[in-house]
Amino acid sequence: MMIAGGVALPVEPASADPLEIIATTPGLADVIRQIGGDEVDVKLLTPGAVDPHKVMPKASMLLKLKRADALVSMGLGFEHAYLPALLEKVGRADLGRGATDVSTGGSHHLVGGDFIGQPLEVPTQLGRGAGVDVHPLGNPHWNTNPALMQNFAVAARDFLSKLRPEASETFSANWRDWDADLTAQITHWQTWLAPAHGRSIVTYHRSWAYFADAFGLVILGEVEPKPGMSPTTRHLAQLAKSMQQQQVKLLLLEPWYSESKLGNLPRMTDVAVVKIASMSGKQGYLAWMGELVAAAARAWGLEEPQSSPLTQPGAQELGK
Ligand SMILES: [Zn+2]
Repeated sequence: MMIAGGVALPVEPASADPLEIIATTPGLADVIRQIGGDEVDVKLLTPGAVDPHKVMPKASMLLKLKRADALVSMGLGFEHAYLPALLEKVGRADLGRGATDVSTGGSHHLVGGDFIGQPLEVPTQLGRGAGVDVHPLGNPHWNTNPALMQNFAVAARDFLSKLRPEASETFSANWRDWDADLTAQITHWQTWLAPAHGRSIVTYHRSWAYFADAFGLVILGEVEPKPGMSPTTRHLAQLAKSMQQQQVKLLLLEPWYSESKLGNLPRMTDVAVVKIASMSGKQGYLAWMGELVAAAARAWGLEEPQSSPLTQPGAQELGK
């Protein structure tokens, strides 16, 4: 503290305070923590691993954004239900410490979707009846492909280094460790699921396209006839029929959707319903992806290869 003419002036500490970073999902928060280490204090904007299409903007969220040094989001409309409304209210002049810019396209806002190459399922035509939470910019659930999270981590390393250049070596070293871990895991997961290559799966919501893409799986269809819509009995019957024909063994259902919406589908087919969130929660990104791969492997009866770098705990499986 400096005293000038009897008035105490705060002195900016030499990068003593960690960067306060707000992330919209636990997975992004985890990666930022892994790379940022002690240099960052990461807080979640949302309640955690919840349905991103149902998150409502709140005053408490606005407060977090106003005080943040930086914001990290998924992009591609993943946060459509709350983030645009909040960012409109934040405004550049309104921002807290260091007058940072967290608005869309701002230098203090890292948008993961900008680093995944061509998004999947970009609609060619937005017609009527396209669904309630149709994804007009393409499928925003890119986090289900671990290779895309690797892309994001590179961008996160560079983003943090720009925000705090004096710690860039730390960020690079942390990123290298994290990336090496994930690379080893991806090799293991690919080996494990290789026998399932080309097999069909069914999902409740259209959240798993990138997972299917990563592991060479085919999405036969969704339980939701259109994103955000509940299935009709007729749609379920048609889906069950093609599931029998294609011998589908795996159905992915997020815990925020009711199992009752599946109707008789599990009984009419030979499918294992695997209840797992389409994003990581408190367990962290690598552990979550490991749970997902293990659950899928179990549905197909695939033994874990001996090359296992880590033993993964299983996701909750509801049975047939
Ligand atoms: Zn969605």
